[in-house]
Amino acid sequence: MAPLSGKEICSLLPEKCDKSTVYRTLNALFEKKVIQRIIADHEVKYALKGKNDQGDGHYGDHIHFKCSRCARLFCLTQLEVKDYKLPAGFTKEENQFLVIGICNECQ
Ligand SMILES: [Zn+2]
Ligand SMILES: [Zn+2]
Repeated sequence: MAPLSGKEICSLLPEKCDKSTVYRTLNALFEKKVIQRIIADHEVKYALKGKNDQGDGHYGDHIHFKCSRCARLFCLTQLEVKDYKLPAGFTKEENQFLVIGICNECQ
């Protein structure tokens, strides 16, 4: 399942939902490391963390691709991100790698 933004999650809920509750819940789940956060262009998307790459959860660090025509976000799970060696004194909390371009359907 593709990562969804808070707005997209709201639109999937049956009743008109309270946006601030949704965002508060997403933040809490992120802090508990249940979901992963993907910073895509100007919006933040969330995905359920998977335990391995077999399920539909979001697993591992990979490159994300944002199509600038259809605005969809793709998980390029085959493109794994290697950990960069950070300068002394810098500690990684999460990787965010985003490629922006035109997807195969919009070409
Ligand atoms: Zn596209
Ligand atoms: Zn992904």
